[in-house]
Amino acid sequence: MMHGFKVFDTHTHIGRARHSGTVRTAEELLREMDKHGVDKSLLIPFPVVDDFKREHDEIGAAVKQWPDRFAGAACIYPFIDERDFAAEVKRCRQEFGFKALKLQPMYQALNPVSPRSDFFFQAARDNGLAVVAHTGSGVPFSLPSLFISAARRFPEVTIILGHAGGSVYMLECAVASQVCPNIYVELSSLMPHHIADLMHYVPVEKLLAGSDLPSSIETELGKIFTLNIPDEAKRQILWDNAVALFG
Ligand SMILES: [Zn+2]
Repeated sequence: MMHGFKVFDTHTHIGRARHSGTVRTAEELLREMDKHGVDKSLLIPFPVVDDFKREHDEIGAAVKQWPDRFAGAACIYPFIDERDFAAEVKRCRQEFGFKALKLQPMYQALNPVSPRSDFFFQAARDNGLAVVAHTGSGVPFSLPSLFISAARRFPEVTIILGHAGGSVYMLECAVASQVCPNIYVELSSLMPHHIADLMHYVPVEKLLAGSDLPSSIETELGKIFTLNIPDEAKRQILWDNAVALFG
């Protein structure tokens, strides 16, 4: 609990990141969560790793050991053999009960407008996973508006726009969410007044809180508490909406 609210961090990472050199274990993250009062986190692999199966195994083990504290997501370089991609997504769902599939277009240049990306969204659909898409840095493929196309081709897949377009493309998130019932927005990286702006356009039921990093938990999640909105709206953003998607 943070300030009397249950908190679900829908965007954080454990594992070994080749691009940044970051190494973080589930135990380390759990200590940070306890320190700050985060009740549950969606664990997402880093986008550049040596062995994606090993990363999934580590997240899967954490989800099994602490099912009340963690939900899991898969992240796979999208240009491997499509059958191998589909098989690994299925393994993550069946062995570990993962809830989401991450796309990080800054390191994984998949064009979500092109039918060539269908296999990615099909894998999410076939396994009942939400897609978490990094948006903002890494344009053009991380532009929030591009996911309108994917959301319309796959109306049964929930697509979460991570980092809400990284501030600069925040209004694209508003449009994408307005025209697609299955597009949600995760608020990390926005300034508090951006969140307030976004709430004029996006219903509170489609907003999610995330930190991205343990060192940002206090700031990113704290931003929600500073908003001049009813407690019920804070409860939805911090907990209820995430539980509905990730359990
Ligand atoms: Zn991230």
